[in-house]
Amino acid sequence: MEPKSMEQGTQRETHILCFCFPAQGHINPILQFSKRLASKGLKVTLVSSSSSTVSSKFIQTQATSINIEIISDDKPDEGQSRTANLDFFEAYKICVSQSLSEFIKKQLSSEYPPKFIIYDSIIPWILDIARGFGMDGAPFFTQPWAVNSIYYHFLQGQFKIPLEEPIVSLPSMPPLKLNDLPSFFDATDAYPTSLNMLVNQFSNVEKLNWLFCNTFDELEDEIVKWMASKYPVKNIGPSIPSTYIDKRLENDKNYGLSLFKPTTDSCLKWLDSKEIGSVVYVSFGSFSAIEKEQLEEVAWGLKMSNCYFLWAVRESESGKLPRNFSEETSEKGLVVSWCPQLEVLAHKSVGCFVTHCGWNSTLEALSLGVAMVAMPQWTDQTTNAKFVEDVWRVGVRVRVNEKGIVTREEIEVCMREVMEGERGKEISRNSEKWKELAKEAIDEGGCSDKNIEEFVAKLLCS
Ligand code: UDP
Repeated sequence: MEPKSMEQGTQRETHILCFCFPAQGHINPILQFSKRLASKGLKVTLVSSSSSTVSSKFIQTQATSINIEIISDDKPDEGQSRTANLDFFEAYKICVSQSLSEFIKKQLSSEYPPKFIIYDSIIPWILDIARGFGMDGAPFFTQPWAVNSIYYHFLQGQFKIPLEEPIVSLPSMPPLKLNDLPSFFDATDAYPTSLNMLVNQFSNVEKLNWLFCNTFDELEDEIVKWMASKYPVKNIGPSIPSTYIDKRLENDKNYGLSLFKPTTDSCLKWLDSKEIGSVVYVSFGSFSAIEKEQLEEVAWGLKMSNCYFLWAVRESESGKLPRNFSEETSEKGLVVSWCPQLEVLAHKSVGCFVTHCGWNSTLEALSLGVAMVAMPQWTDQTTNAKFVEDVWRVGVRVRVNEKGIVTREEIEVCMREVMEGERGKEISRNSEKWKELAKEAIDEGGCSDKNIEEFVAKLLCS
């Protein structure tokens, strides 16, 4: 059957849910994917959860073409309850299972009952809930295949921890040292439940028709081909607001939901006053908590470099800055608690991005052609940094000293390498290349665009 056309006025009746985990780095890409699906004619409801402690702080920063619904993940009977002694993820599962079931039940008796759910791959049990109501679903991976495939190979028993060899060799991957693997593979890592959770992404994928991922085919060519030989992998990225890439979605300037309030005007005004390519932008994302000693080294590295810098230091981290740092460096730098990162990366004054290599930040920088100094902290950031430096060759990765610290001298040297010199020129050429390829992927007829169209067409026919 041919998909029904927009003219027939039927497409918006095909309703799907997109469920996201309530963390900034998980919300952003699925929200953006939802907008793309809506632009192709689906009715999309983005569902996330909120507890009185975390995500009730969501700020809607722009109107969107999708419905946004927040359900509860509060523990109903805190203290004496079934959930009192459970870790965060176990308690989250119990609470969300209940509130999402109630939500779906209500939706199913609405005018346009949802027929499909796209859910964050780190919470695969959402699929069981949906299937219980006769709906089908597909996971959405917010990390690249370079990372996901490592968890897959681990689940298949391709390597063990502690590592038996200093190098891990996996199909279609460069040789990986311990510090190139996601941090949870370090046997001394303090987050064993996180490793389980990430490996579990592959626990129920056998009978799925779609595995969506925020990446694009060319970026991870060999790995994607390998994974696609096992599963119906469909890449739909870069999942970033359209203004910064293909400009096909109207007024799509930012993701739309934020846990932090950006200081937009002062950042942009400050950047406007600087010369092209002269500013170092620094951010460690929405979550990483950096050791005080390490944050101080970054601060002194920036000061020593004498470069202009814009640094986003979340309020919860700002107490670790050297005393009076912002005031003493105000001629050269601007420290803010949160900034409009895409607008900053797209600004002509920005010459380099010192980043923790969260996947969204990495893909945003790649898509906007900004060279990186990779300073990974944990989880997938180490692997992303490896690929930034050695595979995509769009940045340099800092080295830690014997005490596990990146010194101020190292930070300064890496910044100089990226902003000046021969290596910087090569990085700049590569960054331009990936910027073009990223745009092609999501632009009309590109591989990601086609994957989105194919999915929508299938749903409309079903
Ligand atoms: N971000 C932002 N302003 C900031 C810092 C970060 O808007 O000052 C956004 C950034 O554009 C990205 C997200 O927050 O989309 C962070 O996600 P990422 O995966 O890079 O890292 P995480 O926060 O999950 O560690």
